[in-house]
Amino acid sequence: VEWTPEQGWHDARITPYGPLTLDPATAVLHYAQETFEGMKAYRHADGSVHLFRPEANAERMVRSSQRLALPELPVEDFIGAVEALVKVDERWVPDNAGEKSLYLRPFMFASERFLGVRPSQHVTFMVIASPAGSYFKGGLKPVSLWLTEEYTRAARGGMGAAKTGGNYASSLVAQQEASQHGCDQVVFLDAQEGRYVEELGGMNMYFVFRDGSIVTPAIEGTILEGITRSSIIELARGMGHDVTERRFEIDEWRRGVESGEIVEIFACGTAAVVSPVGELRSAAGTTAAPASTELTMRIRQALVDVQFGRADDTYGWMRRVV
Ligand code: PMP
Repeated sequence: VEWTPEQGWHDARITPYGPLTLDPATAVLHYAQETFEGMKAYRHADGSVHLFRPEANAERMVRSSQRLALPELPVEDFIGAVEALVKVDERWVPDNAGEKSLYLRPFMFASERFLGVRPSQHVTFMVIASPAGSYFKGGLKPVSLWLTEEYTRAARGGMGAAKTGGNYASSLVAQQEASQHGCDQVVFLDAQEGRYVEELGGMNMYFVFRDGSIVTPAIEGTILEGITRSSIIELARGMGHDVTERRFEIDEWRRGVESGEIVEIFACGTAAVVSPVGELRSAAGTTAAPASTELTMRIRQALVDVQFGRADDTYGWMRRVV
């Protein structure tokens, strides 16, 4: 789908997958004016196909677009485009459990040819699909974490809450640092004080306390408002847990695990759904993984059961496409 100020959104079409031809002066290549989404379609046992909370992705893309001075794509056009692709794409690959999901990547970018710094007057929105398969190749295992003290992901007033390439570009060196220390993911602290846990390179975080209460870092404009994150708040509350969104200090993590006050830690996102968090390594030393993963696995199961149609969709999250 293309956009210009004169025509608005126009020229929606489905074409065979293939390379794009871009002029070397295409704006996005120089100033990174773009935004994207990540979501999945799930095939149920009866063969029907469902999207998980697509309106939440569409609304997040509207918020990201506002921050990136991109035009707003109406929610129904976003969902319509995703549905149209899901109906024709056949690249469903089973995961470890034999279940099939399809990863979808809607994205919007500045496609005008010019070298000046101003919002693009030509914007392109596309959706591509990719087989999802298994996120964890050898089965689910805890993600090991590296705490970066050199890099932050987003400052207040910045783009941290937007799903835009620049955030990921700036996190690549930190992710590289994590890999060099043998860790799966990087943990980012807030940019102002370097004290509060924000999120991982591509996942939000949860801390489970001995009394069953759960804490997740608050959304204050610097972390991505994960759709899995908000779904888990509802699910966990529905299971009777007290869930608080607040600032969470890195020292509270270390002390909580050492004293046994924190009994589980998990991370969540569209790709991995829910995953137990393992060891936290940093220049200051290592904090062990909490011993339990009991609630983590129950929440994970509850969510994937809804996604694959094995449990009642009591929250109205699934939208049937086929
Ligand atoms: N934080 C970041 C930085 C991410 O890239 C993602 C993945 N989109 C998440 C959190 C989790 O968000 P969601 O649950 O919407 O996938």
